[in-house]
Amino acid sequence: MAKLIDGKAIAAEVREQVKRDVERLERKGITPGLAVIIVGDDPASRTYVNNKKKACEQAGIYSEEYALPANTTQDELLKLVEKLNQKSDIDGILVQLPLPSGLDEHEVIRAIHPGKDVDAFHAENVGKIMIGKFQFLPCTPAGVMELLHHENISISGKHCVVIGRSNIVGKPMAMLLLHEHATVTICHSRTENLKEICKQADILVAAVGKAKFVTADMVKENAVVIDVGMNRDEDGKLCGDVDFKQVEPKASYITPVPGGVGPMTIAMLLKNTITAAKYQAGMEE
Ligand code: NAP
Repeated sequence: MAKLIDGKAIAAEVREQVKRDVERLERKGITPGLAVIIVGDDPASRTYVNNKKKACEQAGIYSEEYALPANTTQDELLKLVEKLNQKSDIDGILVQLPLPSGLDEHEVIRAIHPGKDVDAFHAENVGKIMIGKFQFLPCTPAGVMELLHHENISISGKHCVVIGRSNIVGKPMAMLLLHEHATVTICHSRTENLKEICKQADILVAAVGKAKFVTADMVKENAVVIDVGMNRDEDGKLCGDVDFKQVEPKASYITPVPGGVGPMTIAMLLKNTITAAKYQAGMEE
């Protein structure tokens, strides 16, 4: 039977640490501030933004929300980003993705000051991650690393297989594992022999976006299985990319969905906001 990695509890520890960091900064007269921009009325995006705002409140981080209508123009959005780049009480800027069609998210991300880019999606931050000298890490892969570290799971020399190559999860995930000396294989929709490759993984990270995609026959005995997926099953219930019931008996460690990687993403966003506040205050670590 696998040990369940309790992302909810580990995220709570990170958030407590963030709260203490906020108090320390407050004593120096610094209040970390996060601006969240949401365009349109996508219900999933609305839920994510509400959760982020609530988490900021609980941690003592000042937050501002900019809810713009779906017909917002690229120019209006860029002007808002520019305004927030200049705003001294805002340390971090987050644009909730995806943006409604017609808006160019790459241009919007490029407009965010790299020092306020708490999602770490700006090309400058992506480049820094590639080199290994980064200020921010993208929240979800950083959350996965935190889970692995918390459980003292050894990464160096292990074969890690990441299914998914998105800029938000798969690619940075692979890079972070590589920085910690794993041998990394990235799989995607064109990968041949996916099952055989996954079966070689000591650590298998699934970031596919397909319910119950990873089945027991894709998993090596005693593998560590990290499920990034957030999907709905046939009954409309939240589930991951891993068929938990099938895979759990084979794995040594496994993350549940919900309660695994998900809570870590917000916790890491708060952590990045603290880093940004220190950076704006000239207190780089
Ligand atoms: P994405 O941009 O849609 O990327 C999905 C990746 O899966 C792509 O690289 C795709 O390959 C690959 N893929 C699709 N079908 C495949 C198949 N049959 N075999 C192998 N690979 C396949 O998704 P994402 O943004 O990375 O997110 C992935 C999942 O994580 C989603 O469920 C999302 O909701 C979840 N997520 C969770 C959190 C969290 O906080 N827990 C945060 C972000 C995302 P191609 O590149 O070849 O198309």
